[in-house]
Amino acid sequence: MTNTGKMQRGTRVHIKTAEELAIMREAGRIVALAHQAMRAAVKPGVTTAELDKIAETVVRDHGAIPAFLGYPKQGAPDYPATINASINNELVHGLPGKRALKEGDIISLDVGCIYQGFVGDGAFTMGVGEIPAAVQRLLDVTEQALHVGIKASVLPNEVKHVSLAIQQYVEKFGYSLAREYTGHGVGRHMHEEPQVPNWWPKGARQRGFINYKLEPGMTYAIEPMVIAGRAETKELDDKWTVVTRDGSLCAHFEHTIAITTGEPMILTLP
Ligand code: MG
Repeated sequence: MTNTGKMQRGTRVHIKTAEELAIMREAGRIVALAHQAMRAAVKPGVTTAELDKIAETVVRDHGAIPAFLGYPKQGAPDYPATINASINNELVHGLPGKRALKEGDIISLDVGCIYQGFVGDGAFTMGVGEIPAAVQRLLDVTEQALHVGIKASVLPNEVKHVSLAIQQYVEKFGYSLAREYTGHGVGRHMHEEPQVPNWWPKGARQRGFINYKLEPGMTYAIEPMVIAGRAETKELDDKWTVVTRDGSLCAHFEHTIAITTGEPMILTLP
């Protein structure tokens, strides 16, 4: 689940011990297993409520609990489900329900779980049946942007290098990045420092961006949210679902990773 940029700022980055990282790896593995189960179930006619149930079952069967369920947000009802299911021009935080997938839709599925007190968080976007090549390209660029961000997550880089790597990669394809929503530190809380924006403006500090040096044991979710059209988004009346303002298609891929002295470790793998 993406961060709205309104989490408590100034909280410290929590560096995880090897024992904590082992627990987070299991939390991430459970998220990835939920992804696999949903991916196998996505087809025309399936409802997003059914996908939610599939993910919740995987999470609970592995001794974890859904991290999004009951998640609080100011001015909104607590989050009511295990997954975010965001279709077509819905960017993030779509509420699962009776809506059935149709051939040619794209769907973003985001799952978080808490295992032994630690969070795993991950998302992907896929086509329902056949999708046009131009739409597949949007998905591929977004997934690749995630890997560009992961590749930049090495010492002695700072968060801003990760943000800039993603931004530069995506913008060269003519796509936009959602600016109000960011990746985030993950640990005992779903949203911790550091925030990991998918762009890095001039005058970042005045805009409230906090840059951090990467450190081994730092864990965060990278989650590019890429829009085929313009960057502006709006929230629907349900107070959760975020859509693109111009109605264009969008995609979202997310892994939770750990910084090491070498290559970053992807925690949300099966
Ligand atoms: Mg997230």
